[in-house]
Amino acid sequence: MKESDKVITVLTRELGVISIYAKGAMRLKNKFHSSTGVFTYSEFVIFEGRGDRMYQLNEAVVKKVFYTLSESVENIALAMYMSELIYESVVPDEASNDILRLYLNCLHMLCEGKWSLLMTKAAFEMRLMSDIGFRPSIAGCKRCNEYEKDIFFFDAQEGYLVCPDCIKTYDTAYMASDPPVTLALRYFALADLEQMFTFKLKGYSLIQLSHICERYVLNHTKDSYKTLDFLKPLIEPLIEAEINSAKGN
Ligand SMILES: [Zn+2]
Repeated sequence: MKESDKVITVLTRELGVISIYAKGAMRLKNKFHSSTGVFTYSEFVIFEGRGDRMYQLNEAVVKKVFYTLSESVENIALAMYMSELIYESVVPDEASNDILRLYLNCLHMLCEGKWSLLMTKAAFEMRLMSDIGFRPSIAGCKRCNEYEKDIFFFDAQEGYLVCPDCIKTYDTAYMASDPPVTLALRYFALADLEQMFTFKLKGYSLIQLSHICERYVLNHTKDSYKTLDFLKPLIEPLIEAEINSAKGN
């Protein structure tokens, strides 16, 4: 490999996450330069044969660059975290397309300012976990099937809800889920993607939702992410702003 070559990690529609070797792509004038940039959606023609999940780039067309991401450190940090999450998850080939759509839609919502960072993060976390095989069971209480209650408690380990009548004293790790939060979780885990992006939440409910979705990811993948460590301090002021706006109402 030469200094001007690069290897990129790509989430594909058909093959999950793969590596692509792009000859000369580090050079500004190279035909692959822009299509192989970070947070770029491109169409690639690739050849097999450079080893396990490593392909060679033959042709490339840029479909979309998320330019406005770079206007906000917070947004870049979230995009990096979403990428690391996908990279660390074992993306089943058959779910690749769903996950690619989720990722592109989340970047779009974020760049267009249609969703807050906290909303995008929570939705992405819960939907990704659902798509890779950890869809929580959140239609109703796991123990009595009741589906309408003033509050539920979410077990972020096992991925289900219990109602106040059924919760046991030893269920200490369960996280409170108010009705709007429960509804959001149902949207994220169960609704069609298009429908999911119509949902909005703010204030204390959004904070509660954030905690639940992040905990769910950490319980089901790994304990820590470098990109999440970077993102967390950037999120603190956003959480404070949500608390202040809730107080103001
Ligand atoms: Zn119950």
